[in-house]
Amino acid sequence: MRVRCVPTRATVQARGASALTASMRTHVGTCAGCAAAVSDARVLDVAFADARVFEYTAPSDIEQRILAATGPWAVPDPVRGGRRPGRAATVAAVATAATTAAVGTFVIVLRRRQRAA
Ligand SMILES: [Zn+2]
Repeated sequence: MRVRCVPTRATVQARGASALTASMRTHVGTCAGCAAAVSDARVLDVAFADARVFEYTAPSDIEQRILAATGPWAVPDPVRGGRRPGRAATVAAVATAATTAAVGTFVIVLRRRQRAA
């Protein structure tokens, strides 16, 4: 391996044969090892150019299949197809919270009046 081999092969490996400078191309013409490296890189360039882009589309029922397979620990996402709590349940929860707050306030006021008396 000669002094010019190291930068030439590093350039070929990192950026491809098209990135070689004029002096590197001249060196490749006189060095069997670098010529082999350039040849290998061109084979890879052709292989990558011919490679098809792989795209995967998940089946539409994938979420239900995963939920069925994972058991009772997983629950359906309410935003993506599961059932949201109904309006009646929301109203009942708000009414319960308001009633609890009102009763609590009444009890606190009653106790303070009893202590003050
Ligand atoms: Zn060389």
